[in-house]
This record gives sequence, C-alpha cells and structure tokens, in this order.
Amino acid sequence: MNADLVVAGAGLFGLTVAERCARDLGLRVLVVERRDHIGGNAYSEAEPSTGIEVHRYGAHLFHTSNERVWEYVNRFTAFTDYRHRVLTVFKDRVYPMPINLGTMCAYFGRRMSPDEARALIAAQAAEITDPANLEEKAISLIGRPLYEAFIRGYTAKQWQTDPRELPAEIITRLPVRYTFDDRYFADRYEGLPVDGYAAWLERMADHPRIEVRLGTDFFDLDAPGNVPVVYTGPVDRYFGHREGVLGWRTLDFELEVLPTGDFQGTPVMNYADEDVPYTRIHEFRHFHPERAYPGDRTVIMREYSRFAGPADEPYYPIDTPADRAMLRRYRELARAEKGVLFGGRLGTYKYLDMHMAIASALTMYENRLRPMFRGRTSSEGNE
Ligand code: FAD
Ligand code: UDP
Repeated sequence: MNADLVVAGAGLFGLTVAERCARDLGLRVLVVERRDHIGGNAYSEAEPSTGIEVHRYGAHLFHTSNERVWEYVNRFTAFTDYRHRVLTVFKDRVYPMPINLGTMCAYFGRRMSPDEARALIAAQAAEITDPANLEEKAISLIGRPLYEAFIRGYTAKQWQTDPRELPAEIITRLPVRYTFDDRYFADRYEGLPVDGYAAWLERMADHPRIEVRLGTDFFDLDAPGNVPVVYTGPVDRYFGHREGVLGWRTLDFELEVLPTGDFQGTPVMNYADEDVPYTRIHEFRHFHPERAYPGDRTVIMREYSRFAGPADEPYYPIDTPADRAMLRRYRELARAEKGVLFGGRLGTYKYLDMHMAIASALTMYENRLRPMFRGRTSSEGNE
C-alpha cells in the first residue's frame, strides 16, 4: 500500500485528519469512503430541476464558538451571515423555538416580563428536584405545560423511546431563554458555506498527497499492513458487533418540488403535535436568501424519524443505559487495538456537531498523529 496513513470515512472528521496529515506533515494519505461522495452527512447537492442546494442527509447549519475551528474552516470556505431560526406548530398555532419569552407569552396568552415568566416557570417546574432523565430534565427547565406542548410529542416522534428512558443531555442542547432572543444557536460564529458544502469539503480533500477512493468499504481493503489507520466508521461494526449492536435512530426524508415560490416562509418548521407523522419540514431556498433561485418553484423536505435497522444510515445515537454499558466495552477494545485510532461520530458513538467533529479531529492530530509521525515529517510539509 502506497500510503503512510489510511483514513476510513471521508466525513468532516476524516477529511480534517487527512488534510492536516497531508499538508502539515507531508504524509501520503489514503481516504476510503463507502459512499459515492465525500463529506459524510454534511454533503449537499443542487436539486436538478431548480438548482436549489439540498442537504441530502438533513439540514446542516454551521455554528461554533471555537476560535481554532473557525480559523480552520475559513481556510476552505467563506460563510454567509445566515442566522438559524426555527418555528414550531402546536395545535395549528405557530410559536418560536427554542422556547423563549416570545414562546411563553404566546402560549400562555399574555404579556410577561422576564421576571414574571421566570416566576411562573419556576412554580411549574418545582415538582422535579433531581432530574434523572429527559422528561424530568425538561420539566425542571420549562415546567409541565410547555413540556407537554412543545417537547413531549416532538421527542416521542423523534426518538420512539419513552422520554423517561432518554438521557437528560439531549434536551440540554436546546436553550431556554427569558428574553425574546429567538436565535437557535448561541455561538459566536454562524453561517452557511457561500458556495455550498460540497465545494467546502472538496477543497479540504484537494491535495496531491491525498487519495480518495469512493465506493470503497474499509473492510474490503487489502490488509493495510503496518500502516496506521484512523477509523471513523461505526465502532461496533469494526469489532464484528461482538459486544452487541449499538442503538441508532435514522431519518427518512421525503423531498418534493412544489410549484410555488414559497411554501412556508421560513427554513425550518417543526411540528410538535404527535398526530402529525413528520417532525419538521425544511424549505431549502430560505437557507440562502442571497442566491437567485427560481421564483416559481421551491424544494421542501419532510423529515420522519425511526429506529435504524441494519441497512439504515445511523444518524443519532440513542444512548440508553444498555447502549452505554456496551459502549464502555467497545471503548476498551478500541484502546487495545494497535495502530488504529477511532474518531468521529460513528467511531465514538457520540452526537457531534460539525464544529465538534472538526475540533476533535484537530485534537487527535495534535495529540496523537503528529507525535506518532514526528521525525518522519517530509520536507514538503508545512506548506
Ligand atoms: P460522518 O459525517 O458520518 O462521516 C463518516 C463517514 O464514514 C461517512 O461518509 C461514512 O459513509 C463513512 N464510513 C463509515 N463506515 C465506513 C467504512 N467501513 N468504510 C469506508 N467509509 C465508511 N452538525 C452541525 O454542526 N449542524 C447541524 O445543523 C447538523 N445537523 C445534522 C443533521 C443530521 C440529520 C445529522 C445526522 C447530523 C447533523 N449534524 C449537524 C452533525 C454532522 O453531520 C456531524 O458533525 C458530522 O457528520 C460528523 O462528521 P464525521 O466525520 O464524524 O461523521
Ligand atoms: N426538541 C423538542 N421540540 C422541538 C425541538 C427539539 O422536543 O421543537 C427536543 C427533542 O427531544 C430533540 C432535542 O430537543 O431531540 C434536541 O433538539 P435539536 O434541534 O438539537 O435536535 P436535532 O436537530 O439534533 O434533531
């Protein structure tokens, strides 16, 4: 094999590792990717009949407060000034999401000051003192009425798992605000890649010392011999599922081109009611108001959630207590595996936002890969 390092998976984790090792260390990197494109789940492409950029694996919004990551990603793409905002429908009314003072005033049908809202929610949340799961955590943050309207049905549709079995951390991803700030993310930097995700990701991989082999499963490679491996596929698959199968949720996407210039007037509309089968509808044109898209057609995508079977894309780790126990055993196996580093969302069974995947790849590069290859750095490196 004509490579110094093999990277299994061309998602943001694998591409960051490959880019750093090729450019900074001068290594020859072979990236193998099962799919027919690079970029993992961040990939996007133009819908052919409208030219509207569609995110094939669900809408991806870039945001970070990490200076190192922001500086790094800006080497490959500029970002628009897009700021993500989400609305949610409950019983045919529309509310801002995440839950903020605007949601509370609209739901309780009266104007409230921040202090009045805080007092109301504190009284409603008092029933939970020591939250141990998603339901209890949500009630402790927003009280039962708001939980039952905006969280319970949505979460049940999204996870098909009793909210009392789900970890509390899932809900702490969503802020609760006692101001009218309705931005979805609170990070310092936010935006969408100006010329799309595919162009960004291709620039990361575009280096003479990086070879990308698409449509290639790592497990079908001839034995890589002594070449070190960074593996970003599912950790349980690497070990032949010998400790069991980790639970994932997958998504089904229903894409439709409609003969109207604007279907819903906003990029993402959530549906909180349990009897609406989808969790949300994306309308992609609204992610790029700065682009000249057709005025008479639009592309929408309904999102449905369910447990992943063996043939499905694993999207979100379910992370029940049984999963966590299994993961501990896989981590021990991974630590003992010589010459292989495990990373990324599938390799660590962790929900990682894009900036977290990149940060964690940069850390693996600094702390593990660079020391491993020290002394072998090519004179062509550091360009
Ligand atoms: P992945 O992108 O999953 O890449 C792993 C790659 O490895 C895949 O391409 C896979 O095909 C390949 N692979 C697996 N096994 C093998 C094998 N055996 N051989 C060869 N190749 C293999 N993040 C945000 O910051 N903002 C968002 O708005 C956002 N929205 C999201 C929405 C959805 C529906 C999902 C699922 C994720 C979202 N994310 C978002 C998270 C984002 O997708 C991840 O941070 C990112 O994908 C992590 O990159 P990764 O390289 O770890 O994993
Ligand atoms: N959530 C909810 N109602 C909403 C939006 C989110 O109950 O309208 C809950 C749900 O449990 C979800 C979690 O908050 O899993 C985190 O939301 P996020 O938007 O981060 O989910 P993602 O976009 O990652 O699916």
